[in-house]
Amino acid sequence: MARELLDGVWLLDLGLVPPMATNCFLLDEAAMSRPGGSDAEGGSDGEPTVTLCDAGYWRNTPSIRSELADAGYGPGDLDRVLLTHYDLDHVTGLARLAPEFDGPVYIGAPDYRLLTGDADPPLLHHKGLFHRAARRLFPIPDRFDLRPVADGERVGRFTVYVTPGHNLGHAVYVHDADVALLGDLVWGEAEGLTVPFWLDSYDVAECRASVRSLVERAGPFDVAAMSHGTPLVEGGSDALRALADGFEGG
Ligand SMILES: [Zn+2]
Repeated sequence: MARELLDGVWLLDLGLVPPMATNCFLLDEAAMSRPGGSDAEGGSDGEPTVTLCDAGYWRNTPSIRSELADAGYGPGDLDRVLLTHYDLDHVTGLARLAPEFDGPVYIGAPDYRLLTGDADPPLLHHKGLFHRAARRLFPIPDRFDLRPVADGERVGRFTVYVTPGHNLGHAVYVHDADVALLGDLVWGEAEGLTVPFWLDSYDVAECRASVRSLVERAGPFDVAAMSHGTPLVEGGSDALRALADGFEGG
């Protein structure tokens, strides 16, 4: 059931059997009370946009399409999709947005190169091996305008932070209105935030380093919108900082 966390910020709750239940997020800047990113500051931020972050797993029930409808949107209303990383529970739902959605789809450059075959993930690594098979079996369909993004790049009113560890090209997108789209940088569990476990990641130490680095670089933000678990609508960066502080010595 889609839920508006704040004005113009929607949680699209793509349920299935955990752990394949995935949160997607929709940011409609025209409806946001603090759209952020004034033209004076951003220069070329332009008109308010509607952005979808991640698309879920293609078999999610409810699907991305029905969750969008629940929030009052159709695929044709989306100006862009931001992908936090290439994993099946985040990208295969894109197919459900066709044919109406024809905007750009952004993904961290290392995951883009993985998908185009310009970079090969390590063969002797559990997730590298998985990605080598997955990119052939579940490629992003050619119909989508897939674009790589680099660390520090701006996409409209979002700043990109490439946060490797879970994936080589995992990316976090922080909107100027203090909404951080965290993907699988952290998971929200009953006992609090954690980083993804080793089997689902390339390098857990790097996951931790990426949490630290985001806290240092992204400045304070309120909303911590992670793909698995319950999003935080306030104190987001404080919660990440507390998690990072717990890593010390560990
Ligand atoms: Zn995930």
